[in-house]
Amino acid sequence: MLELRKITKAFGETIAVNNVSLSFEPGQMVGIIGRSGAGKSTLLRLINRLATSGSGDIVFEGTNVTTLSGKDLREWRARCAMIFQQFNLVSRLDVLTNVLIGRIGYLGTMPVMFKHFSAADRAAAALALDRLDLLPQALQRADTLSGGQQQRVAIARALIQNPRLILADEPIASLDPRNARLVMEALRDINRQDKMTIICNLHTLDAARAYCDRIIGMAQGHVVFDGSPAQLTSRV
Ligand code: ADP
Ligand code: ADP
Repeated sequence: MLELRKITKAFGETIAVNNVSLSFEPGQMVGIIGRSGAGKSTLLRLINRLATSGSGDIVFEGTNVTTLSGKDLREWRARCAMIFQQFNLVSRLDVLTNVLIGRIGYLGTMPVMFKHFSAADRAAAALALDRLDLLPQALQRADTLSGGQQQRVAIARALIQNPRLILADEPIASLDPRNARLVMEALRDINRQDKMTIICNLHTLDAARAYCDRIIGMAQGHVVFDGSPAQLTSRV
């Protein structure tokens, strides 16, 4: 479904991602682990083209996404929804409006304020919030919610993009254990129910073991492990 072929990305002297080849199947829940600086964020950003690779190809269902531009690039970004460590909600807008941002694929405030959303869009947003157990909070300002709730709003926003894959960059690194569990369970439910492919950067091995089918270990830009949680346990 998604194939990374010999991807390399350097920032000056630093080779953030070094000759990485990986292939992802539909419906996988993948955890990428590794120390800070290992290249995990850069890898996700290369996939959805927040960053441009120095060399190599990223191919999604036959389309080379490394060369997309304009409308095709915007379309691709909408198909791979991104979830960030710091949630990236618009704090002074209400929760429902934050979810609706997923429909226009734009993380700025201005367009949202002037956008008229259809009843169908609003219903889809409400449905996504209900799925994440956040319908009662729909009309609250985003910044009145707990961190765990805000991350679940971000997941709802991702869902109404109708993504083909979800890329989560350290989604639980800012959360307490209980909220971290709720967020990872929500992601796993979406993975199971929608057969959604989810690639998730995680800073703890425990979370990857508990929630992912496949674990990729990165160090200094290289893939140093790729296997099941059981295979990882037998190696460490
Ligand atoms: P991780 O997500 O595993 O912590 P990153 O992908 O953020 O790793 O970073 C990999 C390496 O690339 C680090 O050495 C980091 O400092 C460097 N790096 C990442 N983004 C940039 C950037 N925009 N400019 C310069 N260096 C960067
Ligand atoms: P993470 O914890 O996900 O690795 P970082 O704190 O390393 O994130 O990086 C945060 C942001 O700063 C990212 O957009 C990354 O690309 C950028 N960045 C990281 N390292 C550098 C660097 N050495 N020079 C410039 N930008 C960097």
